[in-house]
Amino acid sequence: VLAEADAQAVNLLQILRAVQARYQHIPEEAIELLAEGLSIPRTQILGVVEFYSFLHMTPQGRYDLLISDSITDRMLGNQFVLDYLAERLAVQVGQVRADGLVSLNRTSCTGMCDQGPAGLVNGLALTSLDIARLEEIVELVNQQTPLSQWPATLFAVADNIHRPGLLLSEPLVAGDALRAAFERGLPETLEELDRSGLRGRGGAGFKTAVKWRFCADEPADTRFVVCNADEGEPGTFKDRVLLNSYAGQVFEGMTLAAALIGAQQGFLYLRGEYLHLHEQLQGVLTERRAAGLLGENILGLGLNFDIEIRLGAGAYICGEESALIESLEGKPGIPRNRPPYPVTSGYLNKPTIVNNVETFLAAAHIAVRGGAWFAAVGTEKSAGTKILSISGDCARPGIYEYPFGTRIRQVLEDCGAVEVLGVQIGGPSGTFISNRELDRALAFEDLATGGSFIVFNCSRDILRIVQNFTHFFAHESCGFCTPCRVGTSLLKKQLDKIVDGHGSAGDIVELENLCQLVKHHSHCGLGQTAANPILSTLERYPDVYEKQLKQISYEPGFDLDGALAIARRMAHRDDAAAHLSQLED
Ligand code: SF4
Repeated sequence: VLAEADAQAVNLLQILRAVQARYQHIPEEAIELLAEGLSIPRTQILGVVEFYSFLHMTPQGRYDLLISDSITDRMLGNQFVLDYLAERLAVQVGQVRADGLVSLNRTSCTGMCDQGPAGLVNGLALTSLDIARLEEIVELVNQQTPLSQWPATLFAVADNIHRPGLLLSEPLVAGDALRAAFERGLPETLEELDRSGLRGRGGAGFKTAVKWRFCADEPADTRFVVCNADEGEPGTFKDRVLLNSYAGQVFEGMTLAAALIGAQQGFLYLRGEYLHLHEQLQGVLTERRAAGLLGENILGLGLNFDIEIRLGAGAYICGEESALIESLEGKPGIPRNRPPYPVTSGYLNKPTIVNNVETFLAAAHIAVRGGAWFAAVGTEKSAGTKILSISGDCARPGIYEYPFGTRIRQVLEDCGAVEVLGVQIGGPSGTFISNRELDRALAFEDLATGGSFIVFNCSRDILRIVQNFTHFFAHESCGFCTPCRVGTSLLKKQLDKIVDGHGSAGDIVELENLCQLVKHHSHCGLGQTAANPILSTLERYPDVYEKQLKQISYEPGFDLDGALAIARRMAHRDDAAAHLSQLED
C-alpha cells in the first residue's frame, strides 16, 4: 500500500483507508511499517486509527455491513433490517461472525435519508433495504460473491430532485464561469460575488466574498481551496446529489475560487459514506484535465490549479472546517483553536478557504450570470436560493431548491407532508419547530439550515426523536474538551432516565442546567449545538416531558451502592447500602 501511495504523513488517513480496505482492519505490523515509512511515531498512527469510526484494529467481516441509524432510518424500519440480517446471517449486531465472513453494526447517518433504510457494505452505499433486497444480500454473502459481481441495482442511488430552482435547473457550460471571470476581470468578479450577497451554504452563513478576499489579502506564497463535502448532519444529502449530477460545476466553482484567491491546489474532502461517488468524481476530474479546465495554464488563461479528492472515515466532527483541515493533514479531526482562522492559517498553516459544495456551485453561476441575477432572489439578508434535503414523513422525500424567504408551510405542501407534528430544520444541531410555526421562513434571519429538513407527523414520539439526536451527539463528540465529552454523555444519561420514566421534576431542572453548561462551555459548534434538540423541544413541548415524570421527589440517576460494590469487596466489608442508613440518621 505504501508503495502505491504518496508516502507522506499528510496522506496517513488515505493510506490507512487503503490498508483497511485490503485487510478488513489495520494490522499491528502495518502500524509498525507505516511509522517507519512515514517517520512518524507509532502512537500518532494509533491515535488516528482510534479516532475514525471506519478504521479498526481488529478484523471486520469480509462483508462488513453497517446499517444507518439516523432518525429517518429508524422511522423507515432500520431495526427490522438489523434483526433480519442478524438472524439470516447468524451474526449479532456489533459482532463479527465466528468464521470471519460477515460483521454487522449500526453507523451514524449515511446520507440516504430519502431512500432508507440504508446501509453500507464494505463502505459502499445500499439503499431502500426491503425484504427482497435483504434476502438478495443474504444470498450473495452466503455464496461469498465478490462485491464487484453484486447486481448494480443493489448499489443504485437515486437523485430524487423534485424541485430544481436557480442553480439546479440550468446547468452551466463547462469553462463558462472561468471565461466570464477572466473577461470581466478577477477583482471585478470578486466584486460581483460581493454584490450577489452569497453566504456560505454549510449553515454558518459567512459572506463568501469577504472570506475569499481575506484569504487573497493574506501574504503567502501558497494558498489552498477546500470543498467541504463531509455533510454528516443527519437528514442532509443534497451534496451527494450535487456531486453525483453537478460535479463539473462544483469543480469549476473551486477553480474560480483558486483564480480569485491565488491558489494552485484544491481538495475535495468527501465523506467516507460517499465512497460510491469516488471513482466517478475522479473521472470528472480526469475529463476536466483533458479539456484544459484543470492543470497547467487552464484554458490558456495562465491559471495553474488542480484538485485532489481525499476521503473521510466516519467522523461527523470533520464537517467543522478546522477539524476537516486537521483530517486533510492526516490527523484526528479535532477542531483547532480559533483564531487564527483558516483564511490566514489553514491547511499546512497556509491561507485556506473552506466552503460547502453548494457554495462553489452558486459561485460558478454568479460568475456567469452576475451578482444582480442572484441577489434578485431571496430576502435582503439571505440572497439566492437554498437547496434542501427533505426526508421523514412526507410523500416525496428528496431535493428541493427554494428562494430564501419561502415559508415552511409551502415546503411541506410541495413534499406532500400531512398531519405534521413538527419539522427539524438544520438537522439535530438546528431547530425543531412545531406545527404552530409553519409560517416561519427559510432564511438566515429566521430558520437557517445547511440543508436538512426532516418532517415528523403526529404519530411520532418527540422524546424518541430527541433521544436519537442526543445519542448521536454523545457518539460523535471528538472528546477533546470536557464540557462536550462529559456533558453530552451526561445529557444522554439524564434524558434516557426521563424517557424511561424514572425522572422527577428535579431531573428536568438538572437537564436544563446541563444543556446550558454544554452549550456555553464547549470548544466548537458540535458541543455548542448538542443541546439544541432538548432545548428546542423543552421550550415547545414542556407537557410532553412532564407527562413522562414519575411522581416522586427524587430518584438518583447514579447507583452509588452498585459503584461501591468492588471497593466493599476488596475491603472485606459487608455493609451494602450503608450510605443510605447514614442519610436516614
Ligand atoms: Fe470535540 Fe465536542 Fe469539544 Fe468540539 S465541543 S472540540 S466536538 S469535544
